[in-house]
Amino acid sequence: MTLKIAIPNKGRLADASLELFREAGMKVELTNERRLFATALDRSVTILFVRAQDIPEYVQDGVVHLGVTGLDIIEEAARDVERLADLKFGYCRLVLAVPDESSAKSAKDLPDGARVASVFPHLTKRFFESAGKRVSVVEVSGAAEVTPMLGVADAVVDLTSSGNTLAMNHLREVETLLVSTARVVANRAALADRTLGPKMREVLAALESVVAARGKRYLMANVPRSRLDEVRRILPGISGPTVMELAHVEGDKKSDFVAAHAVVDEAHLYDTVNALKRVGATGILVLPIERLVP
Ligand code: AMP
Repeated sequence: MTLKIAIPNKGRLADASLELFREAGMKVELTNERRLFATALDRSVTILFVRAQDIPEYVQDGVVHLGVTGLDIIEEAARDVERLADLKFGYCRLVLAVPDESSAKSAKDLPDGARVASVFPHLTKRFFESAGKRVSVVEVSGAAEVTPMLGVADAVVDLTSSGNTLAMNHLREVETLLVSTARVVANRAALADRTLGPKMREVLAALESVVAARGKRYLMANVPRSRLDEVRRILPGISGPTVMELAHVEGDKKSDFVAAHAVVDEAHLYDTVNALKRVGATGILVLPIERLVP
């Protein structure tokens, strides 16, 4: 049976989703110009390109077995799907924002009956209910950020990443309702299926291995044997560095140096290399990692 996977057809998550499947070695072949679907893994997988907003429902109903979409969309849709993995891209926050001139510092400061516009009516209602605040939710299908200026709403619940769009519309964030990234969701029955389930987990593991490798580098260096304790502190790695003997130099005499290999965070690379040089490391090599399979 063909495994069916839905990914967003346009918008902010579309390109990154397709890229991830390609990097995971799924051999995606776009079969038509309009990008409605593609085949992958030698036709054993069909990838359907659909609206990000429709994906939770398609997954719940079994139209597709797996889907990739934003956590914000998954939470708003409130469908019965299995949440499987955080893909760590498509970062954004769902925030409550008020006009710059408002004195409100939190949801509690909004007047009773305030009008709050959002593309996320369900999450907005839930948030204000738990804050014990009665507001009137104005459901819009896009561009919530312009509603205060139009006099349609007093505040908005909207997605932001840089904050630029909010600032451009003279809005100020006061609360975060949700932090979102792209996620994999699965149809529950398919996941329990004896043939589909293992295949779904295989795809998931491939995607996760790419996500895990992002921001990591493989570092190799020759380090003085006498300073291995310090090297172990500099290269904590996943389970410490792998330490190997160098080929013997003179007869049976062991080299004063050993090779140390480790997976390191790209964010700390600059400091790591300098620290290794200080303990006398030579021949430091840093390589990209395509996948990390635990
Ligand atoms: P689209 O509206 O089709 O571009 O897709 C929007 C989805 O992209 C949202 O539901 C979020 O999951 C994600 N996203 C990531 N960053 C942002 C952002 N700054 N604003 C809106 N959506 C974002």
